[in-house]
Amino acid sequence: MATSGKRHSTSSSRGTPGASEALACPRCARRYDLDRRFCEDCGMPLVYAGAATVEEPESSAHERARKIRPELTRGDLVRVAWARHQAEAELIQNLLLEEGVPSIVRRTAGFDVPDFLAAGPRDILVPESGVEVARAALQTAEIEPSPVSLGPGPTRSHVVRVLIAVAAGGGVAALIAWALVHAVS
Ligand SMILES: [Zn+2]
Repeated sequence: MATSGKRHSTSSSRGTPGASEALACPRCARRYDLDRRFCEDCGMPLVYAGAATVEEPESSAHERARKIRPELTRGDLVRVAWARHQAEAELIQNLLLEEGVPSIVRRTAGFDVPDFLAAGPRDILVPESGVEVARAALQTAEIEPSPVSLGPGPTRSHVVRVLIAVAAGGGVAALIAWALVHAVS
């Protein structure tokens, strides 16, 4: 996760008897040992309990975590969508997040584009328990579930529809600006 947040020092918990349960779920506050990474109930990444939970300033990671519905975080990863490049993949991820579905993006296999390039197609994967919600959301946004056949359909409107869906859900003005730039070029 790409939080820019500072590392929390563990100094405050040193010497306390409860140090064996130094981690806590930011959502349900359940305590965990240091060898755990995710909450069993929520699937949330654990944080240091000392640095706790409530007075943390709102980071985008926390906002994201709050939107995720825990019942949609279970199971193996399943591919639900396909994007032509990183920017489109992020739009789809935002769309899914608005429905509470966490997702990850992977480079589509077989496209040997250097990793630092934003170009190249991406697979979008979600936990098995979130597949139905994800598919419904994608269908609403009229996003093709699989690679778009290079038919007569204008490719630009595909992206625009994604943007409309994202804007309706989250109001991301920067993404609209991005679309306008690309629509002109
Ligand atoms: Zn939890």
